Amino acid sequence: MILLEVEAPDRRRAPIPPFNTETSDLSALAAAAEAVIRESMTEMVAVSDLTGAFTMMNRAMAAAVGGPGASGSPATPAWKHRRVDGKAYAAADLPLTRALRGEVVTDEEMILTWPGGRRQCVVVNATTVFDSDGRTLGAVVMMRDITQQRNAEATLAFQALHDGLTGLPGRHLFVERVQRAINRGVRHRWSTALLAVKIDGFEAINAQFGHDAGDQIIKEVGKRLQACIRASDAVSREGGHVALLGGDDFFLLCERIGGVRGATSMAARIVGLFERPIATDRRAIRIAVHVGIRVVRGAKHNPNVIIREATAALRLARESGAAQTAFFAEKMRSDQTARFDDEHALGTALERGELRVAFQPKISLATDRVVGVEALLRWDHPLRGAIPPSSFIPLAEATGLIVPIGAWVLRQACEQGVRWHALNGGLSAPIVSVNLSARQLDSSLLRTLRSVLAETGMDPTYLCLEVTESMVMSDPEIAIGMLHQIKALGIAISMDDFGTGYSSLAYLRRFPLTELKIDKSFVDGLGRDPESTAIVAAVMGMAHAMDLSVVAEGVETSAQVDALRALGCDEAQGYYYARPQAADRIDALLSQPRLDGDRARAPRPEGAAEWGSGTIVIVDDAPEVRLHARMSLTSAGFGVHEAESGEGAIELIRRVRPDCVLLDMHMPGMSGLDVCRVLRADAATRDVTVVMLTADGKAAEKAEAFSLEADDYIVKPFVPRDLVSRISAAIRRRAEASDPQ
Ligand code: C2E
Ligand code: CA
Ligand code: CA
Repeated sequence: MILLEVEAPDRRRAPIPPFNTETSDLSALAAAAEAVIRESMTEMVAVSDLTGAFTMMNRAMAAAVGGPGASGSPATPAWKHRRVDGKAYAAADLPLTRALRGEVVTDEEMILTWPGGRRQCVVVNATTVFDSDGRTLGAVVMMRDITQQRNAEATLAFQALHDGLTGLPGRHLFVERVQRAINRGVRHRWSTALLAVKIDGFEAINAQFGHDAGDQIIKEVGKRLQACIRASDAVSREGGHVALLGGDDFFLLCERIGGVRGATSMAARIVGLFERPIATDRRAIRIAVHVGIRVVRGAKHNPNVIIREATAALRLARESGAAQTAFFAEKMRSDQTARFDDEHALGTALERGELRVAFQPKISLATDRVVGVEALLRWDHPLRGAIPPSSFIPLAEATGLIVPIGAWVLRQACEQGVRWHALNGGLSAPIVSVNLSARQLDSSLLRTLRSVLAETGMDPTYLCLEVTESMVMSDPEIAIGMLHQIKALGIAISMDDFGTGYSSLAYLRRFPLTELKIDKSFVDGLGRDPESTAIVAAVMGMAHAMDLSVVAEGVETSAQVDALRALGCDEAQGYYYARPQAADRIDALLSQPRLDGDRARAPRPEGAAEWGSGTIVIVDDAPEVRLHARMSLTSAGFGVHEAESGEGAIELIRRVRPDCVLLDMHMPGMSGLDVCRVLRADAATRDVTVVMLTADGKAAEKAEAFSLEADDYIVKPFVPRDLVSRISAAIRRRAEASDPQ
């Protein structure tokens, strides 16, 4: 398991000096404690004199400041400080200065900028040091590096608000912009247009030319639309925006557009943008688009309704065949009355017994056993067949029907939970999870929970409620209060779809959560896309530091399972293991000692010449370098082992026989060069591929590395993609050299 060292204690401390309690005295104890702080604490600690110069530092601080160790001349750190909001500190407000004045500084976050431009985010604690007469001698400063955590959060926040492929804003941002534009339009009495744009036959293009070409097309369409908006500044002087709200559903917002006529010429321009074919890696592809237009003026429209109406116009344009563009007409509203029929049908579905609950297993990655199940609602419509929850839950939410329906699901889930307890003497009873809607999160929920628990006899510690970020973020204070009351009943709480909302993990700390479910969209990229893998790893590390268990949802392939296991994920749920199914079919799965995926695992290819196949041993004394390398390599499909010292590495390499060793040159004790020498001298390890890793690329060092037949030489810091491709190339070269065809 890997952990980002966020706030969890470091589990890999250097050995503490031997300490004999019988013969020692307090000063020996103090010395031992000091040695631990000095040598192995990952927090940076320094003692400063009255001038603010550091007279003592532990190893972590010395490494950061580049100054002397515990003894040596005082050093004044060369960083610049800023507050997290970017504002400069007045000299008198600096944490150290305040500590020297006698103030206690606790958990203050600040940004350090180093002479080379490197930025580091740290949490500072500082206290004054007095002598026995109460005179100030100096101050102790402690800093914890939280850069990785903040970076991961920033990435998540951006991803949540933007489409990953095009970088265009997603729905949340866009709706906000539309809202503001409408308000401005009302104020200034001008018209605002919303244009929905869809690529003609995009599915077919994807199928014919592959998803990579599809992605390139989406990117280019986004780019052209954006350029078109900018060029038309005269038309939409107040600004235009493009957003991607679905697979290939683009939306353009144009303000101060000259009514219907202006919108028509805008649509014509958009259609014209695609007369020029789009270049992809495979070939140039010609596409056509359809445009749906909705123009509003002078009234406070709801942005979501406008977006829906533009989409309705788009549908008309696509269905009409001939025309590429269409306007929203009032009569289209009648289509929406169909919705009311559904509403009526859903209202009686419960009475007519058309609803049922399916259960999908959650598997522990440590034991491969089913440890939980998620209740998922199903509607078997007498005429229209099975209707997926994504189509009717929004309706149930909008109409409030979700409250009685949700209570019914809860009761079904608890009844099954009690039944599973009765099987096998309760030994394999799963935790049963039930999804909640925002509408359910009010005082009646507690009443419902209490009565369902009492009436079914369900043990609340076997019940879990899944909530989503958007649900709790609309009114966090109320949600926090509610969730605490639910938790007090003994019920666990899971954060569903994590990563798709807007909240940061640091913020989520305020919610009484037990579990985090990583959204399928991140799981999809595992083992293929280094960025998704890095995000999943970061989330996992932070969640574990917060004592949350992590579930990956939508797991479909064995490669994803392998990646999740390597990253230390606790549980997995997805089609790879099992689809949602009737409760009685779950019974058999519960007693299975191991549930493996439905497909046989692909055997590791022989040899290691292919991209991302093979085993790597990473040897570095710095845990963050090992973590970074591990994330990069596992995401590309490599199996990874780690050693933190040269001595440990040799034993590990003899045991696992890796395809490549990634070897830090400078380590305390045995250096990378020493390790390489030993490997080359032993017949069993002579032919292993060795890639050296170093912080500075001095020519002499490089020459020495190559004289020991190192296969490549990488200077830190490295980019994931480079690391993967250079290691793959090094392995391939060695394989070819030993086996010329
Ligand atoms: P969710 O809570 O995120 O549930 C997971 C969804 O992913 C389920 O879709 C499940 O069938 C699907 N899924 C699981 N594994 C895989 C996989 O490997 N690949 C793919 N492609 N999909 C997978 P489902 O059953 O269609 O439910 C959709 C959503 O409807 C749920 O998303 C949940 O938000 C909502 N929902 C379902 N039942 C209830 C309910 O009783 N109450 C409420 N409020 N919402 C519900
Ligand atoms: Ca769920
Ligand atoms: Ca989910």
